[in-house]
This record gives sequence, C-alpha cells and structure tokens, in this order.
Amino acid sequence: MLENQIKNAIRDIPDFPKPGIIFKDITPILKDQKLCTDIVDALVKQTQDLDFDAIAGIESRGFLFGLMLANKLNKPFIPIRKAGKLPFKTIQQFYDLEYGTATIEIHEDAFEKGAKILIHDDLLATGGTVVATSQLIEKMEGKIAGYSFLISLDFLNGNERLEKYSENNLSLAR
Ligand code: IMP
Repeated sequence: MLENQIKNAIRDIPDFPKPGIIFKDITPILKDQKLCTDIVDALVKQTQDLDFDAIAGIESRGFLFGLMLANKLNKPFIPIRKAGKLPFKTIQQFYDLEYGTATIEIHEDAFEKGAKILIHDDLLATGGTVVATSQLIEKMEGKIAGYSFLISLDFLNGNERLEKYSENNLSLAR
C-alpha cells in the first residue's frame, strides 16, 4: 500500500535542525524511481477532480512533486519562496515560527485575481507555513482550492488550521 511505502521510505533524523526535533527526511523517496512515479500518479488521482487553475508549491521540498503534479495536470506551477529569493516584484507574508518569524514571497504576477490555487507541500506539521501561504494567496485576491501533501503529521493538528481556508485537505500518508 502506497501510504506504508511512503512511511517506510521516510527516515527520522533526531535533533535536526535543532535539538528535540525529529525531522522527517523524504530524500530516500527521491532515490526510488518507481515510488516517485506511484506518488505522482496518486497525487494526480487525488487532485484531478478539484476545480483549480494553478498549483503553488512551497520552497523547497514542495517544488519536487508540485511541479511534476502540475505538469501531469497541465496546470501552471507557482513557486512560493523564502524572502529574497524571487527575482521579480514580490508580495510578502510574515508569519510566526516556534522561535522568531519568517517571511515568504510570491511574484506579484503569479496569477490573475480570482484564480483558484491548489497549495502543495511535502509535509504538513503545525500548519504555519501553509496558513501563511494561504494568507499570501488571499492577499493577491486568489482563492484556495485545496491542499495537497505527501504526509500530514496529524498529531500536530495543522489540519484544523486549514479548515477555514478550504475543505479540500488531501494527503497521501498520515
Ligand atoms: P509547518 O509550518 O510547521 O506546518 O511545517 C511545514 C513546513 O516545514 C513544510 O514546508 C515542510 O517542508 C517543513 N518541515 C517541517 N518539519 C519537517 C520535517 O520533519 N520534514 C520535512 N519537512 C519539514
């Protein structure tokens, strides 16, 4: 079953990037070509009936499968990046991290007003990053069509924070 294959491939790295954090490392998935193909196929199946115009992927691991998914569904791909990385004019969103704050950006011409955007990332933890991404898209007068993740860490309750933006919260593994 794909969910188990994904979970088995992900490895836990204790104390990365800081003491006390167990980091879920998805890079072993990337070495397994068949698993990558199966993941893209499953993401396509999960999202193909949703009504959306483009996929926004979050730096950096959201780019890996986000672009492949967008390509398979013949949709544009929009990179959401950390501050200072995008070369054209940007719109910004600040958000709180456990310690300190962070800023993400999108190009101001990334999509037309009213566009329906599916947000994709590798992993949902506390939800802070996707909430900030949702706020950024709404600031640009886009609509949140839904969320797509490889894995959601349900015990961190990030899902609850997404409910007010969209009822479509999809994940291949939990
Ligand atoms: P959140 O904002 O707490 O939901 O964290 C999710 C964001 O941080 C995503 O962009 C993830 O790629 C990244 N992230 C947080 N924890 C992990 C992890 O254990 N493995 C991989 N990425 C993580």
